[in-house]
Amino acid sequence: MFRLLALHAHPDDESSKGAATVAKYIDDGVRAVLVTATGGEAGDILNPAMDKPGVKKNLPEIRRQELAEAAAIIGYEEVILLGYRDSGMPDTEDNARADAFTNVDEAEVLARLVEIVRRERPHVLLGYDSHERYPHPDHLAIHRYGVDVFTAAADPSFGPELGEPWAVKKLYAPMFSVARLTALHEAMLTRTGESPFADWMERMDPVADIGKRVTSVDVSATLSRGRDALRAHRTQVDPDGFWFHVPVDLVVDTYPYEDFELLATRVTVEPDEKNLFDGIAVG
Ligand SMILES: [Zn+2]
Repeated sequence: MFRLLALHAHPDDESSKGAATVAKYIDDGVRAVLVTATGGEAGDILNPAMDKPGVKKNLPEIRRQELAEAAAIIGYEEVILLGYRDSGMPDTEDNARADAFTNVDEAEVLARLVEIVRRERPHVLLGYDSHERYPHPDHLAIHRYGVDVFTAAADPSFGPELGEPWAVKKLYAPMFSVARLTALHEAMLTRTGESPFADWMERMDPVADIGKRVTSVDVSATLSRGRDALRAHRTQVDPDGFWFHVPVDLVVDTYPYEDFELLATRVTVEPDEKNLFDGIAVG
């Protein structure tokens, strides 16, 4: 049985990045565990229907429930909350707090992640790319920790008390590729005359993905489940909003993939790979 470990910054990231892929692998029998670094305390209420008394005050508890619901929809075996505080954006009060994720001692965080990886022994680790497009400090931190834990967990000289070394085979980052953005944008224009991606297309760098090693996973069967998981984050996601404007059948017809950038590997990866577990022996 293959195992997958996903590292995410905030509740809802597990549903907006690669959720349909994780759901598909869980259906195939993969054991998947989610690690969420923060409680999303600095999040705004982004769904007008949830902007009501008591919600903002109880946001951490509400977001924990939303996360549990979303993780159950995707099918995660276990959710590990690291319990750090959302670092918010630079130059905010949230960002200055000592308990903000990015202000916590990096050695402490890395040791906890190494311990989790050595216990769960994932074949595939999902982290983040270098996040030029959305430089949230917590997302940038997840990128660094993903890369660091890939190396440290396999290193016998790193924290021998944290468990037997484990060499994760591949580290990927979910990405919104230029190919996917362009295909969905054009298909929406053809079908409806308008596209929710118009702004993105204007800001997009057409050569941004050149040189990246990208694996496109067919998620036709689980796309809807990924969206249901995202919808469970009621405070963060407006069910009438951006993410849901593109009909599932249009996605299946035009670009039924979620894309992942390969950040590190210990096995040979074919250039036309379509499966995150290709080239890995179960063990
Ligand atoms: Zn996030």
